[in-house]
Amino acid sequence: MRAVKNLLVLYTGGTIGMLETPEGLAPAGGFEARMREYLGQQAKAPQLQWALQEMNPLLDSANMQQHNWLAMRDAIVEAVEVAGHDGVLVLHGTDTLAHSAAALSFLLLGLPVPVLLTGSMLPAGAPGSDAWGNLCGALRQFELGLEDGVQLYFHGQLLHGCRTSKLRSEAFDAFAALPRHRDSELAAEIPATLGYRQLRQPVNLAIMPVFPGLHAEHLRALLDSGVQGLVLECYGSGTGPSDDQALLEVLHSARQRGVMMVAISQCPEGTVVFDTYAAGNRLRATGLVSAGGMTREAALGKLFALLGAGLDVEAAERWFELNLCGER
Ligand code: ASP
Repeated sequence: MRAVKNLLVLYTGGTIGMLETPEGLAPAGGFEARMREYLGQQAKAPQLQWALQEMNPLLDSANMQQHNWLAMRDAIVEAVEVAGHDGVLVLHGTDTLAHSAAALSFLLLGLPVPVLLTGSMLPAGAPGSDAWGNLCGALRQFELGLEDGVQLYFHGQLLHGCRTSKLRSEAFDAFAALPRHRDSELAAEIPATLGYRQLRQPVNLAIMPVFPGLHAEHLRALLDSGVQGLVLECYGSGTGPSDDQALLEVLHSARQRGVMMVAISQCPEGTVVFDTYAAGNRLRATGLVSAGGMTREAALGKLFALLGAGLDVEAAERWFELNLCGER
């Protein structure tokens, strides 16, 4: 843990820097000048040296895609390895902030600097906005010293990069670390193929909840669409409609042709333990891998990091079951 002296602020868009347009709030450039002006007026502003880089295009994070994660990863690695920054603050919209934090946790494994993501629920220009509080609070965290790795800072809380979800759409304390059970055999060593220098390709991934009324044909249509990896959101401890033989067969044949399938719990405090119920065991027998207590965001980001690195399904499944950075 050490204080950061030369920070990069990576501005990706989001409400924090948005301006009103005839269509509603939209991303806007020029945030560096606004930030320097605000901090210049504060008697007790954080003193660390910083530079700001804008991503292009700036996004409402509702538009975030895998290629944007890869562009963020490139910008962060370049900031550290080429420009010599010793910490990175990512300004991001809140809609997919937890998704990006989780994805970056895996894409930046082993990066020897702290990375913090923040944003705000109201634009920096709005009365009573949380923008400057979140921004200054995040800057202070860098001054105080942070562990290497990816974390979120929001409404006074420092949160784990891949155990956090957005729980509230209208409150300032929008994010929380979900209290899911952790079974955590930490991977002894991260191989180079999973480290921050590894280049990745986009991967065709999908998330599907089970629900009363889910048909084998729904799943078949999804799995026949070219999907390479599926996050199946199961009930409680990892159950689903296991009396539906056709549905089990759809899952089984997808795994046989190389689709990686992982199971998370739909319960905010849930953990997949297939053995608890016969209904869970039957799902596992199709080839589903347990994501333990991982969040939806973490399961998606980890699938992307593993399959995007070009691992075959068997290798990806082995790494998926290990704890790479506290996600399980
Ligand atoms: N739609 C906005 C975004 O995610 C919401 C926000 O930033 O709070 O970019």
